Amino acid sequence: MEPHDEIEDELPPDALFWAMEPFGPPMGEAACSTWDRTRFPTPQEQQATFDGEPTVPERDFPKARAVCLACPLLEICRDYAQDSRDEHVFLAGETAEERRKNWRKSGEIAKRHRQVTALYTLDVPTATIARLLQRDESSIRGDLREVRKRRSDLPPTA
Ligand code: SF4
Repeated sequence: MEPHDEIEDELPPDALFWAMEPFGPPMGEAACSTWDRTRFPTPQEQQATFDGEPTVPERDFPKARAVCLACPLLEICRDYAQDSRDEHVFLAGETAEERRKNWRKSGEIAKRHRQVTALYTLDVPTATIARLLQRDESSIRGDLREVRKRRSDLPPTA
């Protein structure tokens, strides 16, 4: 049994998902949500490009980039792409591979702190948080100490 299976039985619907993915995608009129028939022959091809499907030809990325450049959500989407550290989809004019080159360690730690805080606030035990995030328990306790320096509302670790 996976740790997700155990914990899903105990948490409200979607709570685990949002704890593990603490950054929501940009809301609003995304240009990629409408088929750009001038650039993509079919909506499916456009969708596949933005979904980051591995079979998409390189030539489709400049087309997707052009769609992003005209998108009103471009700046928010760029922040989301960095914060969420999404590893699959095409976002804000970049493939996941391109974004990965600019990732900083601080972003990884910031995301993990959000995950740890969200799970801890849901009363998930530190041992389970460690398993979900594939880290050892002492590192999760260290994360909680760091978070607590900024957030006095977190209860002490059991
Ligand atoms: S910037 Fe690009 S990926 Fe992001 S919402 Fe707009 S069109 Fe979609």
